[in-house]
Amino acid sequence: MKITDGVYAYIWRGVFENNCNMYYFGEPLNILFDPGLTRHLDLRFEALRADGIDPAGIKTVVSTHSHPDHFEGCEHFMNKGIPVGMHREEIEFLNKMGPQFFAMFGMKFPAFTFDIVMEEGTWSVNGVDLQVFMTPGHSPASVCVYWKEKKALVCGDLVFKESVGRVDFPGGDPVQLKESIARISGLDIDYLLPGHMEMVTNAKDVTRNFDVIRQYIFPQL
Ligand SMILES: [Zn+2]
Repeated sequence: MKITDGVYAYIWRGVFENNCNMYYFGEPLNILFDPGLTRHLDLRFEALRADGIDPAGIKTVVSTHSHPDHFEGCEHFMNKGIPVGMHREEIEFLNKMGPQFFAMFGMKFPAFTFDIVMEEGTWSVNGVDLQVFMTPGHSPASVCVYWKEKKALVCGDLVFKESVGRVDFPGGDPVQLKESIARISGLDIDYLLPGHMEMVTNAKDVTRNFDVIRQYIFPQL
């Protein structure tokens, strides 16, 4: 569904439809975030088409982090020669831990090549400057991607509506998670777009969400 001009969200509806939230930044970016599990891709393409987006027009795919429920479907795009990006250190982590990690989920480790090795900083795509933040804590080098003009932040599994990402997976770290959340909480955000659960879609609620997390979740970490 379209949440504002150029920003589309595909929210988790159940295990038979998808496995994490997927987002799309439309023209002129045409970037797909977190395609999820390979077996649900056809349904996700249908959902894109229903919003007037031709999946053949996807130019770039970003995986916020290397966990299979977000990343596995990247394989499809890699095989088609569509550039897929992830943070440099997360790629190194995946190379090291991937086979074991996918086995934990009962999944086969896909063959992969990343054409885009992401780093913290400005990422210019087709004349638009996106900001990439390296936000470790849930995984060693998860990224958040910020489209300033839209005040939209794709935040992966760093932070959710009234919750935060797990820190007990390999490479997770509660102290880093808190630091990462503190860093991005200063951004001007109207659309907080997490990898699971519902979005937070106005600035006041986004601020409130960070307050709730600081007050009630941080002390438990
Ligand atoms: Zn994850």
